[in-house]
Amino acid sequence: MDTPKTADIVIIGGGVMGASAAYHLAKRGIKNVVLLEKEELFGTGATGRCAGGVRYQFSTEINVKLSLESLPMIERFKEETGQDVDYRQCGYLLVATNEKDAQVFQHNVEIQNGLGVQTQLLSGDEVRERLPLMKFEDAIAGTFIPKDGLVDPNGVVAGYVSAAQKLGGKALTRAEATRICVSGDQVEGVETTQGEIQTRTVLNTAGPWAGLVGQMAGVQIPIVPIRRQMFTTNALKEIPADFPFVIDFAQSLYFHREGEGLLIGMSNQREKPGFDQSIDEEFEMENFEAALERMPLLERASRASHWAGLYEVTPDAHPIFGGSPVRGFTICAGFSGHGFMHGPVAGKLMTEYILDGKFSTVDVSMLDLARFEEGRLIKEYNVV
Ligand SMILES: Cc1cc2nc3c(=O)[nH]c(=O)nc-3n(C[C@H](O)[C@H](O)[C@H](O)COP(=O)(O)OP(=O)(O)OC[C@H]3O[C@@H](n4cnc5c(N)ncnc54)[C@H](O)[C@@H]3O)c2cc1C
Repeated sequence: MDTPKTADIVIIGGGVMGASAAYHLAKRGIKNVVLLEKEELFGTGATGRCAGGVRYQFSTEINVKLSLESLPMIERFKEETGQDVDYRQCGYLLVATNEKDAQVFQHNVEIQNGLGVQTQLLSGDEVRERLPLMKFEDAIAGTFIPKDGLVDPNGVVAGYVSAAQKLGGKALTRAEATRICVSGDQVEGVETTQGEIQTRTVLNTAGPWAGLVGQMAGVQIPIVPIRRQMFTTNALKEIPADFPFVIDFAQSLYFHREGEGLLIGMSNQREKPGFDQSIDEEFEMENFEAALERMPLLERASRASHWAGLYEVTPDAHPIFGGSPVRGFTICAGFSGHGFMHGPVAGKLMTEYILDGKFSTVDVSMLDLARFEEGRLIKEYNVV
């Protein structure tokens, strides 16, 4: 496709945020929206490398509210876009092994129940009953809700991109934004590796690269890339079809069913910010050993695949929605490792912001860029 010379809105970054925004803008009648992706395919950044988990279980009201809008959008996804995204409601089972986490779990359940999310608080014994294949002698509490689960990230991106195109939106791959033209304090255009586009509105959905895109417009965005990695196993016949997404909270160690086997990941707390997406083999061994302690049957497992991706981390682990000091330069990024599930509603919210000047579906106005300078940070405890 030829690069358009002008656009009403240019979206930089074709992961879940950019794809969702392109669709929602096109749905509201904006035909001249252009989605730019630097790679050969859409969704090969954080979105395509994520674990696909979707959950209601968060510790802040705003994140629960985002899930309350976004997860039903995923349930309706096929109806709306024609694309199957394989939503498996296997539930998330978060396990606490120390008093501090157990207290936080109780607080989280109160917040979630208060917003109508029926999360159950489990005792240590109930955790052990539900996970007979795992060794959780030290579990003292757990939380579970069956509606949490797994979704295919590539399906969500592909569904939104093709639905946006059907509505007249344009989507370009191998099109890297290299410069944002600003005149005075107003965006005037974007230079790309496929030519220049004049526009007065840019949406930065560059995920872990959003800070770099901000710099192109002269806007400081406090998002740092941090590597996370995971591996999958061969088929393990003992793992039941309804095995939940299990999180050993203190270790940030997680397991979920992937095909006939398991997907296993763990956050490396020593990881330094950076764009490296190669596998750290030494840490993978640490991850495997921690997983083996929890699930002895892994002794017979072999690795089927492994990969690394980048979290896009803000100082308070909450995303940034809205404008910036440069007029026309807007941001939807910084979801800090749990953004895939909020992508559907995030694209809708940015559409509301750009077209109506306000967020209607969920009030996310407190998640603006200015909060970092003004010290209005909001801490999310349930980051894995
Ligand atoms: C290992 C791992 C596990 C995760 N697990 C989960 C999970 O279970 N559940 C969940 O909800 N979230 C999870 N996440 C987080 C989730 O993947 C992200 O929050 C979400 O995908 C961010 O989407 P995005 O569209 O903002 O970023 P991305 O998907 O990274 O998209 C940004 C895109 O911008 C493109 N780009 C960058 N610069 C430019 C430029 N100059 N010009 C053009 N294009 C550009 C990139 O190539 C990229 O495709 C996980 C992340 C990782 C890394």
